[in-house]
Amino acid sequence: MPLPLPKAELHLHIEGTLEPELAFALAARNGVTLPYADTEQLREAYLFSDLQSFLDLYYELMAVLHTVDDFTELADAYLARAAAQGVRHAEIFFDPQAHTARGIPIGTVIEGLARALDGAEERHGVSTRLIMCFLRDESAESAMATLEAAKPYLHRITGVGLDSAEVGHPPSKFREVYAAAEALGLRKVAHAGEEGPPDYIREALDVLGVERIDHGLRCVEDPELVERLVRERVPLTLCPLSNVRLRAIDVLEDHPLASMLEAGLMATVNSDDPAYFGGYVGDTFDAVRGALGLDREQMRTLARNSFEASFLDDDEDRRARYLAEVEAYDFDAE
Ligand SMILES: [Zn+2]
Repeated sequence: MPLPLPKAELHLHIEGTLEPELAFALAARNGVTLPYADTEQLREAYLFSDLQSFLDLYYELMAVLHTVDDFTELADAYLARAAAQGVRHAEIFFDPQAHTARGIPIGTVIEGLARALDGAEERHGVSTRLIMCFLRDESAESAMATLEAAKPYLHRITGVGLDSAEVGHPPSKFREVYAAAEALGLRKVAHAGEEGPPDYIREALDVLGVERIDHGLRCVEDPELVERLVRERVPLTLCPLSNVRLRAIDVLEDHPLASMLEAGLMATVNSDDPAYFGGYVGDTFDAVRGALGLDREQMRTLARNSFEASFLDDDEDRRARYLAEVEAYDFDAE
């Protein structure tokens, strides 16, 4: 088997990598009863009607994660799968409030994830960064308290993000916490324009000062915004399989990725919550290539964009190495 196209993954929720098999194993270990008979029945619950219906299950299953080891096992399983699909660098989101709300200390979460990330280079050949996300359907005060609680662990965290139910929770709600995160030297990203309107993308840029937009799909409804995103080379971390599963679009063939690339947008392709959405990032690359008929240069552009949009500016030598691997990739050997 030839190696897959090298790529970075920039939009990945570690809790969204919890496969049914691991969920049941952790449930048994921690004495948690899941309201599903077996993995089969659980997989049947993965037919979502929208973002909220997914989030309900996503939070329910997280109840199996208790110990430092649980978080390490979760992240290590993701890194192994990602590496097998060509991921050379991963910037991983986690949702501390989803765990602290059920009594798990933030230190348990971060220590557990950090242990897996510390071993990732040696075990899987993957470099990593950790991005702490705030739940936007919780209050700004709760986000600020989370940032405060994370202070002893800031050496483990590269940046902050914003996720969960988007509509009705505009980026501007988190103006203060993003300013505080910036003052602490953290990088900034935010989900915007997934289910929310294009104006949320503008707010994320202008009010929060984010460097990347997670999703950003709905920018295509606003030509002026597209022009700006192209001009300012704002990376968009698109998640096409997620968009289909959560019904943002009907079928993958309708995804605007190809036209977004043609417009000059700095698009990247990611898996979001791969255990729930039918594929890891390599599967996602293959799916869009097939469904949208992307050519080799477009695939290479997606891979190049993923490294250029990464927070590897603290390690430019490594980024240059990864980019050289992308340029040297031989599609004929696939
Ligand atoms: Zn996401």
